[in-house]
Amino acid sequence: MQSVYGEGAGSALFQLLSILEGGEPRGGPAIWRRRLTAWLTTRGTAEIPSHAWPLLDEIWSRRAREIPSQRAADLPRLTSNGRWTDSLSLWRGDITRLQAGAIVNAANSGLTGCYVPFHACVDNAVHTAAGPWMRQSCESIMAERVRPEPVATATVTDGFYLPAKRVLHTVGPIVHASAPSHEDRDALAGCYQACLAAALASSVDSVACCAISTGVFGYPKRAAALVALAAIQGFLAGSGDAPHVILVAFTADDEAVYRSAIGEMLA
Ligand code: ADP
Repeated sequence: MQSVYGEGAGSALFQLLSILEGGEPRGGPAIWRRRLTAWLTTRGTAEIPSHAWPLLDEIWSRRAREIPSQRAADLPRLTSNGRWTDSLSLWRGDITRLQAGAIVNAANSGLTGCYVPFHACVDNAVHTAAGPWMRQSCESIMAERVRPEPVATATVTDGFYLPAKRVLHTVGPIVHASAPSHEDRDALAGCYQACLAAALASSVDSVACCAISTGVFGYPKRAAALVALAAIQGFLAGSGDAPHVILVAFTADDEAVYRSAIGEMLA
């Protein structure tokens, strides 16, 4: 199968790495792909020469065509009995593959993505799939702000080469203690509320939420699921024209946590 980045000497990938690294790349396509990802992850976009951008476009447009995506509109709803959960779906998968009106990215306070190559955070996955245009957009936004992004806000960007139209970047609370405090809980609820309000203001038909703060930021998953569901319930019960909300579970364990939390809320 043809690589999503293109193969061989003379390919867009080969040409791009030659420009970025200043010489003919050694090794083969698998190594080049990793080197490109690492190069882009560790640098600001001002370091990308202008003649590299058309090659980036070529590579990312092929990647977007070849990687399968899931239509949010096709996902089953949790219920169909007139309750708030009629507008809610639970889906297990990679949020960067979801064709939704908007997806939520659990960002850090710098808001320009993760700078650790291959780090398994959702921020890295979102920026990598969207392409460096997203970092560039976030850099422009942050250049106009005088302080780091506070927790519990939502900043909207385009989705660029993601299947999702928009990305809602939010910074969740970092939980230092063994159990989240009231402030942590309010901050996490604030993230969901800010993202859902931003989705409504953006007139998107669907919004997919990753499990904010439950990775590197250390929020216990079950407690976070209950906070997320309460915020979503408040939103869906309170606005008639609310978009379809999708809770994204990344792993089977995460899905089980959500199912049990939903069962508890609906009991
Ligand atoms: P935070 O720093 O806010 O804790 P993380 O990215 O470390 O953010 O983790 C947040 C949640 O996102 C975790 O539950 C993690 O399993 C999940 N996650 C990581 N990658 C993806 C992805 N590609 N799609 C959906 N969820 C993801």
